[in-house]
Amino acid sequence: MGSMETDEITGGCACGAVRFTMRGTPIRAGLCHCLTCRKAHAAAFNPFAVYLRAQMEVDGTLQSWRTENGFELFFCPTCGSRVFGGYPGDPEVEISLGSLDEIGRITPQYESWVIRREPWLAALDVPQNQRDPSA
Ligand SMILES: [Zn+2]
Ligand SMILES: [Zn+2]
Repeated sequence: MGSMETDEITGGCACGAVRFTMRGTPIRAGLCHCLTCRKAHAAAFNPFAVYLRAQMEVDGTLQSWRTENGFELFFCPTCGSRVFGGYPGDPEVEISLGSLDEIGRITPQYESWVIRREPWLAALDVPQNQRDPSA
């Protein structure tokens, strides 16, 4: 997993109005099949990486909404792409690997909410959590 050593990773929304740079090594990276991730991304799953807010630099206008448990999701108001998320006041932020400019920079280390995995989607060769590993 040499990609985790990466110094700087860039990404952004689909229309290009919002851009971000992450510096240093992510704290962890995973792949989530939960209902919120599925709906927020309109996708079958969400591969993500967690960093400290201090490692992130964001350019552009964002809007946000909060899930039932208070997780705040920031998105581009022009194209609707999700850009990052985090709990207000928490030092950690989560980005999605689908937002990154280059492929293959970060590899998920575990899967979460595999009870929601699509039956046609094979498991990665990483630890499998039925639900949230922290729950
Ligand atoms: Zn956009
Ligand atoms: Zn999720």
